[in-house]
Amino acid sequence: ALMLLFVKTLMVGLARDTYNCPLPKQDCTSLAALKLDGNLSFSSTADAARDFGNMRHDYPAAVLYPASVGDISAVVRTVYASSSNVTIAAKGPGHSIHGQAQALHGIVIEMSALRGIEVFPGAFGVPPYVDARGGELWIDVLRATLKAGLAPRSLTDYLYLSVGGTLSNAGVSGQAFRYGPQISNVIELEVVTGKGDISTCSPFQNADLFFAVLGGLGQFAIITRARIILEPAPHKVQWIRALYSDFKIFTRDQEVLMSQAKGKSFDYIEGSVIVNSKDRHGWKSVPFQGQNINATLIPDSAGPVLYCLELTKNYFDHEVDTIDKEVDALLEPLGHLPSVVFKKDAPYLDFLDRVHMSEERLRKLGLWDVPHPWMNLFIPKSKIVEFDAWAFKHYLRDGVNGPLLVYPLDRMKWDSRMSAVTPNEDIFYLVGLLRYASPSLVPSVESLKNQNKEVINFCQANGIGYKQYLPHYSTQEEWARHFGVHWTKFVERKFMFDPKAILSPGQRVFSRIK
Ligand code: FAD
Repeated sequence: ALMLLFVKTLMVGLARDTYNCPLPKQDCTSLAALKLDGNLSFSSTADAARDFGNMRHDYPAAVLYPASVGDISAVVRTVYASSSNVTIAAKGPGHSIHGQAQALHGIVIEMSALRGIEVFPGAFGVPPYVDARGGELWIDVLRATLKAGLAPRSLTDYLYLSVGGTLSNAGVSGQAFRYGPQISNVIELEVVTGKGDISTCSPFQNADLFFAVLGGLGQFAIITRARIILEPAPHKVQWIRALYSDFKIFTRDQEVLMSQAKGKSFDYIEGSVIVNSKDRHGWKSVPFQGQNINATLIPDSAGPVLYCLELTKNYFDHEVDTIDKEVDALLEPLGHLPSVVFKKDAPYLDFLDRVHMSEERLRKLGLWDVPHPWMNLFIPKSKIVEFDAWAFKHYLRDGVNGPLLVYPLDRMKWDSRMSAVTPNEDIFYLVGLLRYASPSLVPSVESLKNQNKEVINFCQANGIGYKQYLPHYSTQEEWARHFGVHWTKFVERKFMFDPKAILSPGQRVFSRIK
């Protein structure tokens, strides 16, 4: 009798789940038959319809909280076998801008449900690495590796991003000039393809899948584990900001610094454009807390904007007596405005986690969960002065309502077999318009988006040879233009690894094939 009761309860449970399931009937029936370690939920889908951009909200029909790689494989395999139009998006913390991690009426996989970080400190000639699950945040990966005195070599400015999310794009910051983007620092992946196959891949095993996935916008497979190269973690950094009024001197210095050998140069090189004024987006934002800027040092000849070079030099505790001298010698030849240079020491983790501190401040001010019409571009070195003259000095001279980043990257540190695309020059600049629309809606989201469009129009009309980073397009013609000569390969790989176009529908590259 007990057995009968158990079977009845189970059947009622299954029937209820199937009944609540808003997916097509055939999918509900086959999904209900799966024995999952985790949980497939048809309620509380609101979080999966939200992202940092806060401009698009596509509600999925279901959210999978996987407790094993097998769960992910089983769900993808089931959807692959179906003739419905259901799609699946792997989702990290959803720091996309335009709904890239959303799946309208489909299934979102909450990758954070599957945890796991294992540090291998290196032995027998094998260099150190960390194995991290795709949904792990970089901050947690970093904290785990620091316990072993190690750190990933190339991180993003903000660390509350997921491993799978940044590896699907590139993952750049001021360390990328030396080590390349995060996708250049992965030696092995475990993935689930669009057919539901679990595969381990590397440059030596299933290499085409490996390179397709890196920078692949989630189009080919779901990253369930990444093996990431580590290096000894410095204890501290000397953190420097220096102000420039001349763009050519600013970029010349950035390029000279990035060409210098490791150990003989800085370890982090970024830069930003600031309005030449004393408002909050102006030069008052350059000194570190507790330091002051002497405005009389800014020459009358300076234009509407100024440029801030941001650098760090890593050091270990035993180098504390020599670091000042070393940094002064490195700064000495630079052409920043005399005396407008600010320095401070910070523990390595505090420096790397600095954006999180801004996040906490902005959250308190109610300025974090607002719309973010961000746009990031890669601009080739040969066009950056022309871009500065029109965009920074003219069109965006009043600022972008948020940070405006500009720093150089080295194409030699990117592997052209990967899916990520860059401009066709050895050096190109990341230009990040990291804007937010304030709750008062002045400036409005629409006006900020229109500004982005104008910047693109300028680039197209003047042959700037740009690429969008974290690209956002809505037609296949635009995607074909974005990938250029790599488009055919991108399509071939899609056909091979996700032939029914099930994965990452929010990128709007392909439509689901039934
Ligand atoms: P999501 O937004 O959740 O997903 C992004 C895309 O990847 C989606 O298409 C999704 O389907 C896919 N995806 C997610 N997980 C997986 C997986 N496991 N396998 C396969 N596909 C997957 N970028 C930089 O390069 N450098 C920076 O310094 C930087 N700073 C940032 C700071 C802030 C405050 C924010 C909001 C973003 C920043 N970014 C930066 C952008 C960031 O790299 C992207 O938002 C990226 O998408 C990672 O975010 P996420 O982990 O939340 O991914």
